[in-house]
Amino acid sequence: MAKKSSFGTVPARTLPSDVRLSANQHLVWKQLKNANAPLSAYQILKKVNGKGISAPQQVYRALERLIEIGVVHRLESVSRYVACTQKAPHPYQDSLFAICNHCGRAFEFKAKKALKQIHNKAFEQDFTTGQDPY
Ligand SMILES: [Zn+2]
Repeated sequence: MAKKSSFGTVPARTLPSDVRLSANQHLVWKQLKNANAPLSAYQILKKVNGKGISAPQQVYRALERLIEIGVVHRLESVSRYVACTQKAPHPYQDSLFAICNHCGRAFEFKAKKALKQIHNKAFEQDFTTGQDPY
């Protein structure tokens, strides 16, 4: 049986072995890794307030670093952050996220081919998409 985690049965990926996090980054990472659903920066702040982090800017700086090393994604449509569940670092645009309308949990899945098809269809219609997947 798969290990239970923040998103049902898919655990957050582990940190790359060569990455060192600051105390604040580690604190923010821990919140996202153990969360039941994607979190906003303010929800994260509420959870870590008084543990060395007291300002939104500190949360945003930690999130910036976690996104940079590929263990956190920002879900633009809901302005929340989620721990990556893929095994290896990958560009954000390689994944799709299903977000449950009922409980708010998110599920990440690889969708490189589907995303390329969507991009190409949009391009055929003279639509400009946010990112060219390749
Ligand atoms: Zn990911």
